[in-house]
Amino acid sequence: MSQQSSKPCSTNHSRCRYSTVDGRRCRLRVLDDQSGLCFRHVRLNQSQASAPDPEALAAELLGSIEDFQTAEAVNLFLGNLLKQLAAQRIERRDAIALAYISQLLLSSLPALDRQRAEERQARELDEIAKSIKAHHAAHLAAASATAKPSSQAAPVSASRPVPQHAPASPEPGSPQPPRDYASLRS
Ligand SMILES: [Zn+2]
Repeated sequence: MSQQSSKPCSTNHSRCRYSTVDGRRCRLRVLDDQSGLCFRHVRLNQSQASAPDPEALAAELLGSIEDFQTAEAVNLFLGNLLKQLAAQRIERRDAIALAYISQLLLSSLPALDRQRAEERQARELDEIAKSIKAHHAAHLAAASATAKPSSQAAPVSASRPVPQHAPASPEPGSPQPPRDYASLRS
């Protein structure tokens, strides 16, 4: 019946009236006379009619989840997914795909945790190194300020003479220890 395929669907009741976007007609037999569709396209029509709004479904699935960087968030998502699947608001294959992606996310979390721990450790080590350097610099500055200026001038204050009667308070030009040196030393 190839000569009938281009005619309007009303004249061809034996074949499904569904056509693809590029104009190809479905080859299956009509199941439902009222719609003129085959079993497959009747089901497709029904599922499209009853399908929830995608944005509403996404809102239900995501809830308060902002990202998937914790096991708690992924667990919450899986719970929401189960609810939607149980209520038949989501296609089974979509649910399977989302569950699979969730599994991948969960398996990537330990690596993410390790990376964060390493970054935190590096920051802490950096802080310790900085405080050691500051402490050391303050110690050097105090040592050069208290050293006898006549016999052994500090390199920074070498350009100007340091008065001998002021060993404790450093010359304005010489390096100043931090104000909290006393607290650093204790
Ligand atoms: Zn069809």
